[in-house]
Formats: sequence, structure tokens, C-alpha cells
Amino acid sequence: MTKNLLLYLIILFSISAHAQKKSKITNKKKAAIEIIENRIEELISLSDEIWSYEEVAFKENRSSKALADYAEEQGFTVKRGVAGIPTAFTAEYGSGQPVIGILGEFDALPGLSQKTVPEKDPRNPGGAGHGCGHNLFGVASMGAATAIKELIDDGKIKGTIRFYGTPAEEKFFGKLWLVREGLFDDVDIVMDWHPSAETKADVQAGLALVDFLVEYHGQAAHASADPWNGRSASDALELYTTGINYYREHVKPTVRIHYDIQNAGEVVNVVPDYSKIWTRVRDTKRDELVPVWKQIEKIAEGAALMANVDYKITLISGIHEVLVNRTGAAVLQKNLESLGPIEYSEGEQDFARKIQAATGKEQVGSVSEIEPLEETLEHPMGGSTDVGDVSYVVPTVRLRATTAPKGTPWHSWAVVACSGMSIGHKGMEYASKAMAMTMIDFYEDEKLRKEMKAEFKERKGDYIYKGMVPEGPPPLEME
Ligand SMILES: [Zn+2]
Repeated sequence: MTKNLLLYLIILFSISAHAQKKSKITNKKKAAIEIIENRIEELISLSDEIWSYEEVAFKENRSSKALADYAEEQGFTVKRGVAGIPTAFTAEYGSGQPVIGILGEFDALPGLSQKTVPEKDPRNPGGAGHGCGHNLFGVASMGAATAIKELIDDGKIKGTIRFYGTPAEEKFFGKLWLVREGLFDDVDIVMDWHPSAETKADVQAGLALVDFLVEYHGQAAHASADPWNGRSASDALELYTTGINYYREHVKPTVRIHYDIQNAGEVVNVVPDYSKIWTRVRDTKRDELVPVWKQIEKIAEGAALMANVDYKITLISGIHEVLVNRTGAAVLQKNLESLGPIEYSEGEQDFARKIQAATGKEQVGSVSEIEPLEETLEHPMGGSTDVGDVSYVVPTVRLRATTAPKGTPWHSWAVVACSGMSIGHKGMEYASKAMAMTMIDFYEDEKLRKEMKAEFKERKGDYIYKGMVPEGPPPLEME
């Protein structure tokens, strides 16, 4: 064999290997990608519209309407105001089994208003901003749902697609009430994603948490003339936080305790007769969280005794950690690998490096390499999500897609900036494609669905899920 012939064969082999790799994207998936690409301009404009509304928890009226209207225009059957939440909705298309759900969030965060520039510059000083990229979140999921809807229309896929418009993730965990309402009871699999500074199938459970208010009621009096007539609600609050801060030393390292003092008197010459503090407790497992929570309630009571005031504890809501589904995540992982990483223009990399410079990070630009599928940690770090509660009633598969440069501080102006420009848009388009491709696998492979359900049952064991929500309506008016 001549050297040239050998070289020729090597090239031929590598081309065919490459073609094989590309051929992992089936025709149906290619069709889904094409649908999303054909609609990308309208999806970007919908995302930018929601970005500009910057509406916070339970007040996402225009954002929710924009998404629901879009779904209706596409021919989805839309139910607005589900689970007693005006801004929650479902949009469904198709019929019969399987039923695949996809989640879309759209709430913003207070105080983070920002223009689409790479240095801190509020658009509406003091206003809210999409510091978690939920404008991208809702629209990418809607794009994926629309692609599935079109494939159902063309007879390429059989079953039902249901988009869930899920409000107030940031503050009150709106999905809790959708789960309580039974809106996921007939669903086979739920697909979900989150904007991020990396691209991967998310196989970490995050943290469970509980939120409650402690209020103290005392007796007002002149702070100097007759303080002996006063019983200070503010004293109780200080004793409460002191108790918590001593208690910190005696909890497991996985526990997080936060509080936000909401009221501690109005004026210095009055003994305060009212105080209020929002407390949040987190741990990696819902079950391990409960004893910590109960101990903190005792501290609240002890503080009331010491200050000789009355107290009241009110549960706001609590969420479970995510029940990971690795079988589903592995399918998502394959689709990410066949899609390959997001590519950026030099202008985008320049923007990314400026964001990194402004936030004190290494100026490496935006990186979207697909991370390998990680081990699921027993005690993961990180935040919490109300997707946890969905994952306890239906197998749930989660994606993270890059919408901001590496190292970007989350819940910050920098995320708001990226979520309104092309770095965010690219992540949104990517997420939409990856989720549509993965859902196609879920529709087409009954055996896969069974395996995912088996893993779900195995992980859940004999735990009986009950959402940590008080009776009655969601706290729509709470500030
Ligand atoms: Zn978020």
C-alpha cells in the first residue's frame, strides 16, 4: 500500500466517522431544529419583550400574557390563571399518550434593572431585571414546545405536549401550587432547563428549603419617659437572630440559614410593638431540613419568652430538592454532544470579556463546552428550585445552557445584560433545540420512558410526597 493510498483511506474513514457522528441527529430532530431556526427572530423578540417588562413574582401579567398569547396563536389550547394564580397557565397540543410537559419561567428579580451594556448601568434605577434569565427560560421552552407541536401536526410524533407557564419561581415558588392542584398528575415526563454560565445535563439535586415568617407583638411606650410600660418586639427579634447565630455552630455543614428583617420598629423614641422577620432554612434533603426548622421555631418561641411578647409563626412555602433522573439526563447528554457547543462571534466574546472585567473575573470570554455527565452528589452545593416539587411527582430532566460568560455572578446586573442580548439569545436557541431533540426521544422510545419511571420510583422509594404549602390560596399579595 502506498503512503498516499493510506492517507486517502484515513481521510475517507475520518469523513465517514464524522458523517456517522452527524447522522446521530435523526430527520425528526433535524426538522425540530429547522422549525426553531425558522422561528428564531420571533422567539428572540418575544424574549426581549419579556426582558423589557421585568416583572417580579406573581406580578408577571404582561410576561405571562405574551407567552400565553403566542401559544394560542400557534394553536395550543391555553388555560390561563390555573392553580389560583392569575399569571400561571398551561398550553397544550395533541392528544393521547405520552404526555410530555415542559416548564417555562418568566419572573424577574427586584433591584437589578440593567441595560444591555457590559458595565453596571440601570435601565430603570431601582427597578427589577432578569438577573436569572427567566425571559430566556420561558421562551426557549415555548420554542421547543412549538417545534414538538409542529411535528405532531405533521404526523411525525404521537402524543401530547403541555407547556407550563410557571410564575414566581424567585420568591414564592409558584410551581408548588401547580403541583398541589394536580396539574402534573397525568404527565409522563417533564423537561426543564435553566440559563447558566455552562452547558450540561443537570444531575445535581440542589437544596430543599423552607420559608416562614416570625412576627412579634409587644407593647408600645415612650422609649425614655415610661419604658417600663413597653414590651419590645424588636428586642425579641434581636434575641431570635442571636439564637439563630449561636445555633449555626451546631448544624451540619450542608445547612444554610438566612433571614431578612422586614420590620423592626419605626422610630427611635417608641418601644416597638411589632417586628417581622422572614427566615429561610436550607439543606440538601427535605427530611434533614425539618429538625433544623423545628429547632429554629423553638428559638423564636424562646425569644418571645425572654422579651415578654407574643409571637406568631407563619409558613410561607417550602420546596423539595430535585429528584434527579439520570436515565433521562443521559439522553439529553447525547443530544448536547450531537449539537456541539455554542459558537460566539468576536463581538460577543468582547462583550463577555468586558462583563468579566467589570465583575472581577478572569477575562476568558464565554465558554459553552459541553460538560461530561457528572456524578450526582449526595450533598450538592448551590441554590434551590421549585422544580424539585415537580420532580417528586413526575420524572424530570433538566438542562443548563450557557447564556452568560464563564464566572458571571448570578442574580446580578451582568446576567440581566446578557439575557437581553445575543449571548443570551444564543443560549436560548440552543436550549430550545436541545430540549426539542430530547423530547423527541421521550415520545419515540417507550422503553426509555419505562426506564425513567423505574428510576423515578427507585429514587423516591416509599417517601410520600406532600408539598410544604399552607392551606388556602397562594400568597399573591405578599411583598
Ligand atoms: Zn432562575
